[in-house]
Formats: sequence, structure tokens, C-alpha cells
Amino acid sequence: MRLLKTIGEVTKMERMPVLFVGHGSPMNAIEQNQFSDRWIALGSELPRPEAILCVSAHWYTRGYRLNTAAATNMIYDMYGFPDELYRVQYPAPGSPKFSRQAKELLGDLAKTDNGWGLDHGAWSVLRRMFPNADIPVFQLSVDAASPLEQHYAVGKMLAPLRERGVLILGSGNIVHNLAKVNWSMAGGYSWAEEFDDYIKTCILAHQDDNVIHYERAGSSAYYAFPTPDHYAPLIYVLGAKSEEDKITVFNDACVLGSLSMTGYRFG
Ligand code: ZN
Repeated sequence: MRLLKTIGEVTKMERMPVLFVGHGSPMNAIEQNQFSDRWIALGSELPRPEAILCVSAHWYTRGYRLNTAAATNMIYDMYGFPDELYRVQYPAPGSPKFSRQAKELLGDLAKTDNGWGLDHGAWSVLRRMFPNADIPVFQLSVDAASPLEQHYAVGKMLAPLRERGVLILGSGNIVHNLAKVNWSMAGGYSWAEEFDDYIKTCILAHQDDNVIHYERAGSSAYYAFPTPDHYAPLIYVLGAKSEEDKITVFNDACVLGSLSMTGYRFG
């Protein structure tokens, strides 16, 4: 990345894009398909980050938690999948430097918690995007106790990290209803397609308020997800983007009936 200037410890750089990735089935970590191929392509299209701040649906806590450790463990938080998936390693270092900066931006809102490592929401995508695992990664949890408006505010508070070379990556799914997954279905149920399309229309029209208040979508919102863990990372990402960021939609599809793979790049 091109350095612009250094003020004290903080180096100003060209602003990093912000990403929301629909991670879908953990099998996307090891299967080659249109979605994982797109993640690979994104890795070569993006500027190389100094560090990656990942908000994964799978670190769902009470209160915001931030991992500041220099080294993180792999977490295999999925059950009943082939052994190969449990052998995946992604030995990226943590980022004490940038996690400390994130902590300063969030103040008392986030607590340091190094009891978590890299979960599959993070590594299933990152091993495709940045396969060398040589970029420091740190995670911020999804606070189950805060409303989506608060996640949006947290995203806004973290936005200055973009200018320091940090890639903010939200990993979840816009439609995520595991009870309704149909393993033999290629596309999505009509309500899944409808909700995914509604959210896309709102994002492209800069109607962030409608994305936060997703229930305005009508009946499709009722089925889209039983709990907001996979939807919430999108809201952090929306908070961290700015009006002038170019919006690119990728992996625009629903699969297995009730999962959306749709992703967004801002900037
Ligand atoms: Zn997931």
C-alpha cells in the first residue's frame, strides 16, 4: 500500500475497502466452487492489508469482546463434517498493535478476551483469500445483547482503522435458517431470495436504516434467520463504510434453500 504520512504511531494509508462475506457451509473452506473461487479472486484484487479485523458470526457473546493476543488458536466450531475440515490450519499471527488501536477506538464498549481463537467463520474465508496466512488477524465478537443500531455505531467507531491499512471483514450470512436447510436444493426458497434481494436493494440505495430495521422487509424477514448472529456482521460493516465507497456485490446467490452467500465490498 502507498504510505501517505505518519502521525506519531499511526500511519495514514490509502483507505482499505470493507467486506461482508457470506461464508455459508463450512465445506466452502475445502471445496472448490463458485463461491470459494470468488474469495480467491478477491484476495488478489484487494490491496494487501496490514492486518485483518474479522467480525465473525461464530463469536457470539454477551458484550463486545476483542482478541488482542499475539498468537491465536484454531477453533473447529462445527460438527459432523469430514475429517479433512478439522485438519485445516491457518496459522496467521494476531495483531496486538491494531487490536490495541481498536480497543482505544471502542473504549469501555469492548472487553479484551483472549479465550477465543480463529473460528471457522474467519478461517474458512481467509484461507482462500489470503492463503499464506502471513497477515495478522484479530477478531471482534458479535454482542448478542446489543441491538443492531449499536453494531452500526461500533462499525463507525472502527472506521478510522481503514486508513491505517486494516481490512474490516464481516463474516456471516444475510439469510441463515439452519432448521430449514435443504441439502438437495441448489437455490433458495422464494422467501430467502426475496429477503436477500430486499437487503441488496436497500444497501445499493444507501438505505442503511432499512438494513438495520430489516423487519420492514415483511414476512420474508420472519423466516430469514431465527437469531441475528449471522446477520449482525453485515451491520458492523455498513457502519464502517462511507457514502463515497463504491459498492460491489459478489457471490449473489442463495443455496440449500435457506442460506444466502451474497457478499459486499465497499471501497
Ligand atoms: Zn456460520
